Amino acid sequence: MARVYNFSAGPSMLPESVLRKAADEMLDYQGSGQSVMEMSHRSKVYDGIIKEAEALLREVMNIPDNYKVLFLQGGASSQFAAIPLNLTTKDGKADYVITGQWAKKAYKEASRYCNANVVASSEDKTFSYIPKLDPSTFTPDADYFYICMNNTIYGTVYHELPETGDVPLVADISSCILSRPIDVSKFGILYAGAQKNMAPAGLTVVIVREDLIGHAQDICPTMFNYQIHADNGSMFNTPPCYTIYMAKLVLEWIKNDIGGLDKMYELNLKKANLLYDFLDSSEMFKGTVVPEDRSLMNVPFITGDDELDAKFVKAATEAGFVNIKGHRSVGGMRASIYNAMPYEGVEKLVAFMKKFEEENK
Ligand SMILES: *Cc1c(COP(=O)(O)O)cnc(C)c1O
Repeated sequence: MARVYNFSAGPSMLPESVLRKAADEMLDYQGSGQSVMEMSHRSKVYDGIIKEAEALLREVMNIPDNYKVLFLQGGASSQFAAIPLNLTTKDGKADYVITGQWAKKAYKEASRYCNANVVASSEDKTFSYIPKLDPSTFTPDADYFYICMNNTIYGTVYHELPETGDVPLVADISSCILSRPIDVSKFGILYAGAQKNMAPAGLTVVIVREDLIGHAQDICPTMFNYQIHADNGSMFNTPPCYTIYMAKLVLEWIKNDIGGLDKMYELNLKKANLLYDFLDSSEMFKGTVVPEDRSLMNVPFITGDDELDAKFVKAATEAGFVNIKGHRSVGGMRASIYNAMPYEGVEKLVAFMKKFEEENK
């Protein structure tokens, strides 16, 4: 069986050793005589799995004790509503930076539940940069300040965090969680859908500072209330059991095989630099993002000619580099090179691009 190099933006590649381990344990998880898929979430053996997953996430991300880790469902998109519903009143205020479709959707949803304010936007140039932020324009008494840290569709990332003072910083880290060390203490909330860099789809991780829990609006649905999930150890109802188990395997891989997030970051830098260096030297392919805001995870590029883009995508797919077409709203190409993409995958892609360039001059 030949596995392809999968450059999908999400759901995306998982480490091969993780998939093999999951396959080995599929029918009989560690002598329990059951698959993790079949277990009661209230069983002792499953309790061990979810506790270990949380402990590993805390260890790998160095999450301080005054933060709760919640394993939820509903995707990152549910948090667009859950965040204002938990952190503001109807008269409350929140600042948003619009750096792409995900931030914009979050802002629109928040506008239904509080006074959401746009501080800055990069929509004028198709979100190809992170706007320069001036703290004097921030709402001083906002309940929170919202950013989308890594913009999956456009390939930008914040290399510097906004200075929000006492206003809690909330960040969507769906497409960069576990890609590098993050100082969790700088944030009120960090959250991520798992399907980009952590596990298969179905799990949403919310890391929330304890003092931000317990102030939900009356209309906040029970299932969106952080307090309910925090008080019940993410077991108020059935959690996404199997996906949490897969996240545990991925975390073990980061900790034991890679050697932690410092090492993960080194590897990710090495992969991204290889691709960006090629894009900067190529006469045919160009990156679409300003160099200072480039993402390590999602690398959009174009030839400048739609037909040539389509030809490249087709040839790449046939050669085993799949899901490299750009997002439908942007066009061109996008190579998502999350943690599980091996260095060799990027090396081979670059060699393929060089050859394509030679042959299509
Ligand atoms: C994929 C993605 C989302 C949406 O995630 P769902 O789990 O599908 O709701 C939100 N934000 C970012 C940054 C993403 O990459």
